[in-house]
Amino acid sequence: MADLKGRTAVITGSTSGIGLGIAEGLAESGVDVVINGLGDAGEIQAISQRLEDQYGVRAPVIDADLTDGQAAQQLIRDAEQALGQVDIVVNNAGVQHVSPVEDFPDDKWEKIISLVLSAGFHTTKAALPGMKSRGYGRIVNIASAHGLVASPYKAAYVAAKHGIVGFTKTVALEIAEEPDLTINAICPAYVRTPLVEGQIADQAKAHNMNEEQVIRDVILAAQPNKRFVTIEELVALTRLLCGHEGRSFNGAAIPMDGGWTAR
Ligand code: NAD
Repeated sequence: MADLKGRTAVITGSTSGIGLGIAEGLAESGVDVVINGLGDAGEIQAISQRLEDQYGVRAPVIDADLTDGQAAQQLIRDAEQALGQVDIVVNNAGVQHVSPVEDFPDDKWEKIISLVLSAGFHTTKAALPGMKSRGYGRIVNIASAHGLVASPYKAAYVAAKHGIVGFTKTVALEIAEEPDLTINAICPAYVRTPLVEGQIADQAKAHNMNEEQVIRDVILAAQPNKRFVTIEELVALTRLLCGHEGRSFNGAAIPMDGGWTAR
């Protein structure tokens, strides 16, 4: 997308999976991207170097543990320092924990709520003033089909994802009259990333099934089209939302789920 060239973006959780794919997709469109996430420092530096070499953009690494709200706000301030301004924020970092609610560990509940819900509040709060002053901004929240419907044993994740959808709608109303400022949520079904690989392995053990059976009968059971959403599809929608032609999407929670939430 030509109109994204020269923009600047922070993609949280961009050291793996969907976040890495979106960082790469935006870099390919000429966007300077902040890389953030957990993992081996050398490997993260190599991602940054590869994006800079391959796409001729800036791709600084900025560390922040986003379970800490102040660190999430500082990430935006550090990104403004590193790139001059922040035009696009993709709130993507997330983790999962699966357990019946009565056994759900308190610390896992707190962690998922702070990372999946509160971090998006903190980055948005920090980024909006700069976006408003320049008359352009895009916030894209990577929610989930679980932001629209529930599954058992995912209490914290489903609560946090529904929460970020509600947050998205609220902020959309607050910024609606700004000239070119939007916030939206993308609600994908399953995407085959390290987060889901872990669930496939766990479920295979729990149900004494092989991986193919787990994918068909457990993971994709609710997904009518019986295939994973791809990172390329998520990149394409993110580009659309961030571009000029995406400016009328505001406060939307867009399902990308092969029909799951149409049931
Ligand atoms: P992933 O495990 O591959 O990547 C998660 C990213 O978040 C990593 O970069 C990780 O380092 C980062 N992260 C984790 N804890 C962090 C912390 N405390 N501070 C900063 N960064 C942290 O997972 P993914 O599948 O790519 O998921 C990305 C997002 O997409 C999540 O919000 C997830 O809920 C959502 N999502 C995933 C799927 C799916 O099927 N994979 C479906 C719908 C929504």
